[in-house]
Amino acid sequence: MSAVEELEKIRNEALGCQKCRLKTTCTHVVFGEGSLKGSIMFIGEGPGRDEDIQGKPFVGRAGQLLDKILDAGGFNRQEHVYITNIVKCRPPGNRVPLPDEREACLPYLREQIKLLDPKIIVLLGATALQGLIDPKGKISQVRGQWQIWENRWVMPTYHPAALLRNPKLKAAVWQDIQAVVHKYREIVNPDHYSPYC
Ligand code: SF4
Repeated sequence: MSAVEELEKIRNEALGCQKCRLKTTCTHVVFGEGSLKGSIMFIGEGPGRDEDIQGKPFVGRAGQLLDKILDAGGFNRQEHVYITNIVKCRPPGNRVPLPDEREACLPYLREQIKLLDPKIIVLLGATALQGLIDPKGKISQVRGQWQIWENRWVMPTYHPAALLRNPKLKAAVWQDIQAVVHKYREIVNPDHYSPYC
């Protein structure tokens, strides 16, 4: 079975999953989407209201901001980036997913990482940081600093929703994305074009 076929199999499993309570209140399971051949994976917290309605990741206001951030780095969802979340079902009222919910959902994310094999992972916000690489990590302390996790380059940064609440964080995220662009040029494509860096 090819990686794409395996990913589709895992996706179908997730669509029918009832491993945690989030399934009982969500509308759609939001598995993730984007380039299956890109080298970058962005990981957020969980689907919000718009994502839950549409069944797609990062399509609300935070998603539109993420698209602008990607644009600035010369990246897009079709060619370079796959986007998913720590939990695939929306927590009610957009609350933070609970530890047991994160743990129940983590095997899907791990399969996505294994099958898509991204060279660079960008963690968006504290839940992504804590859910994947460091349960006690503080995003304000580690953002902007490359982490090596399971032989991959990992850049923690703020979640776009945090930027909507506090626009002063935009400068930090822009620095972090510039670092991602430089790393991408270094390890994936030296000719990568970004309009701003
Ligand atoms: S959040 Fe994840 S573990 Fe929980 S029901 Fe949805 S797919 Fe399953």
